[in-house]
Amino acid sequence: MKVHEYQARQILADAGVPVPAGAMIESVEQAAATYKSVVQEAELGEGGLAVVKAQVHAGGRGKAGFVKLVRSPEEATEAARFMLSNRMVSVQTGDAGIEVCKLLIAAGVDIDKEFYLAVTTDRATRRNVMIASAEGGVEIEQVAAKNPDAILNQPIDPLIGLQPYEARRLAFELGFKGKQVGQAVRIMLAIATTFEKKDCTLAEINPLVLTPARDGYPDGQVLAIDAKFSFDDNALFRHKDIAAMFDASEENEGELRASRIGLAYIALDGNIGCLVNGAGLAMSTMDIIKHSGGEPANFLDVGGGASEEAVTEAFRIILSDPKVEGVLVNIFGGIMRCDVIAQAVVNAAQEVGFRVPLVVRLEGTNVKEGRRILSAAQSDLPTMQPAEDLADAARKIVDAVERERAGSSSPVAN
Ligand code: ADP
Ligand code: MG
Repeated sequence: MKVHEYQARQILADAGVPVPAGAMIESVEQAAATYKSVVQEAELGEGGLAVVKAQVHAGGRGKAGFVKLVRSPEEATEAARFMLSNRMVSVQTGDAGIEVCKLLIAAGVDIDKEFYLAVTTDRATRRNVMIASAEGGVEIEQVAAKNPDAILNQPIDPLIGLQPYEARRLAFELGFKGKQVGQAVRIMLAIATTFEKKDCTLAEINPLVLTPARDGYPDGQVLAIDAKFSFDDNALFRHKDIAAMFDASEENEGELRASRIGLAYIALDGNIGCLVNGAGLAMSTMDIIKHSGGEPANFLDVGGGASEEAVTEAFRIILSDPKVEGVLVNIFGGIMRCDVIAQAVVNAAQEVGFRVPLVVRLEGTNVKEGRRILSAAQSDLPTMQPAEDLADAARKIVDAVERERAGSSSPVAN
């Protein structure tokens, strides 16, 4: 589960990491007053610098124009209007972009230097690892690709956690000096502890910034400007505070519907919807669709115990995706019975209708009854073809989708 930046800032602040003053808004009308109160809280005075930032579960906002510096209530309102009425397209969103419903208005900070700091799990070493770079900011992906030596790694011992001497060494390697070192070390220890305590899969501060010297901070202040946290879904039951931060509007509609009825569904970019039982079979079904020249539109494992109602809902989800140009049902009935699947196919056909080609391959428990149900409902399923085995099924659905495409572009097709 991901959370928004304004929520991540709260988690950081609770852990003792300094963040600039800020508040979340959901409408253009709130922008002016929020700008004033944030600037006042940060003691910046009239015309003080603030930043308006889209709150979405995707990065690259700065380059997409969805992080805007503003110096007046009018500019804050203008930035808010732009962001709430345009979709954000960044390197991380795909061409269609995403809708923006929430904004953060935060106090502006004078920045001397931007750093990168994160904790994640390194599966190769089977350790959590702190990752840091003195070249943080919006270009961090390029730094990782072109200059990997500028990225530092500090493995974290699973029993004793990140040690202060390790954090200090990292702080020196990043170039922190004087009183900056202690500040950086406190932040590093705080995010390493939070990562562990909150069952994170990612805790990232980018940028971590160093400000110029000012009152109380003779060597400048180190603070977090942008933060991103992801959490292990399987551990959410023991973090009610984190679970409460879930924002359904940021999730894929189909994935949400599927999770409500306990199905494992992941939307993909292709055009062939798949309904399969068992994660392993779902993976091989996707592989063989690709092998036959098609692209899967989703991963869907209805598992062993799904009811007829759940499987019918699964078909509704697949058929509601406008990208789906064909559906492949591949069931190897063990615990899942073929007749349950067949009945769900018929229900979906009667309710929504398969306007696209459908290929069904059934094997295993109650297969005869399953096939009988399907052939009895043949009139409801004009686009259905049965398949012998997996390879046959994949070939048939890819061919059928191609035929449909050729047919719809040329009226004289066979
Ligand atoms: P993203 O990572 O999605 O592009 P960031 O929050 O990291 O968004 O913002 C991008 C850049 O905007 C930062 O690297 C920083 O230079 C600038 N910026 C962000 N917040 C502030 C702020 N409060 N004050 C000054 N500059 C900021
Ligand atoms: Mg950032």
